[in-house]
Amino acid sequence: MKSNRIETQAIRTQLERSQFLEHSSPLYLTSSYVFEDAEDMRASFADEKERNIYSRYSNPNTSEFIEKICLMEGAERGYAFASGMSAVFSTFAALLNAEDHILSCRSIFGSTQTLFNTILPKWNIATSYFKIDELDTIESLIQPNTKVIYAESPTNPAVDILDLERIGALAKKHNLIFIIDNCFATPYLQQPIKFGADLVIHSATKLIDGQGRVLGGVVVGDSELIQKIYLFSRNTGPSLSPFNAWVLSKSLETLPVRVDRHCDNALKVAHFLESHHLVNVVKYPFLKSHPQYELAKKQMKAGGNIVAFEIKGGIEAGKQFLNAIKLLSLSANLGDTRTIVTHPASTTHAKIPESVRLETGITSGLIRVSVGLEHPEDIINDLKQALEN
Ligand SMILES: *Cc1c(COP(=O)(O)O)cnc(C)c1O
Repeated sequence: MKSNRIETQAIRTQLERSQFLEHSSPLYLTSSYVFEDAEDMRASFADEKERNIYSRYSNPNTSEFIEKICLMEGAERGYAFASGMSAVFSTFAALLNAEDHILSCRSIFGSTQTLFNTILPKWNIATSYFKIDELDTIESLIQPNTKVIYAESPTNPAVDILDLERIGALAKKHNLIFIIDNCFATPYLQQPIKFGADLVIHSATKLIDGQGRVLGGVVVGDSELIQKIYLFSRNTGPSLSPFNAWVLSKSLETLPVRVDRHCDNALKVAHFLESHHLVNVVKYPFLKSHPQYELAKKQMKAGGNIVAFEIKGGIEAGKQFLNAIKLLSLSANLGDTRTIVTHPASTTHAKIPESVRLETGITSGLIRVSVGLEHPEDIINDLKQALEN
């Protein structure tokens, strides 16, 4: 009996039971698979049957993980990667040719920016950027060689919301491949394919694992595009390991309950920060004061676990705030059970010129909180004492 509800799909999408009638999916640590006879081997290599040949191509654990993400995102097909960045790189390497052009939102993950600005230019693939509030002028940036339109929503670290349906319509009109990095929302909160995305990418390292243990990535969407990504990947080897796939597939079983609690805690933290006199601005998609509150409500089931706020006093105040944190973690990850606090202007975005940094909403006093699953009062108390320190 199949369900179309994400909570059930994440739990009841499972490998066929083996002779041992295990309840939970076993871990298949095998690099290759055997053939019945010469004919079976010939037909398998000729792609006449769907089966496992070698774990760089497919493995039961990675297949289970991919199938769950496909069901949750409403996608036809997918491929799983060793990390979010290998998913992003392989997607562009598989789909683009030399001299193609990318149109991307300015507010994207740091390593993706590096990929666009310094790695893809080796093949004369250039990127033009639009700002989150410049959707009216996007069409003027489209060139004859533009192939892809790329974005994240909510954005990192400023938690802005992009109008996915509007970009989806534009992509369709100009025949562009619309790709969304859905890492901050997870398939539980937002399914970009509904709004016209052709491909959805996740860093599974974040909320999908959710417990800070393994790296992983996945791309799902249109089956013809995935076929190209699959052929590129099965021949170049960025595949997810079976062990990490097993961990991530298990993690998906609890994704809905974990993300619900992350969102409840984040909203409480956002309300607390909004009421504090040493805080200038609080950005959280489900706060009524968020500039795109209505859009967030339309696109997302809840606001996610990232809260950004602007501390009074700029760079110095930001550093002092981090130094005063006692319970929470200063760490580079996000989406963990543990609450993580970062100050982008003095750390992850310190090398970016101030003018560019400000364009993406990263002001000098911006603090990003990845709200975890500790008791919300404890999270709030630590933020409070660090602010007042
Ligand atoms: C972390 C992250 C990535 C990269 O994922 P890795 O698993 O660290 O390689 C890509 N996009 C976003 C939005 C991320 O937060």
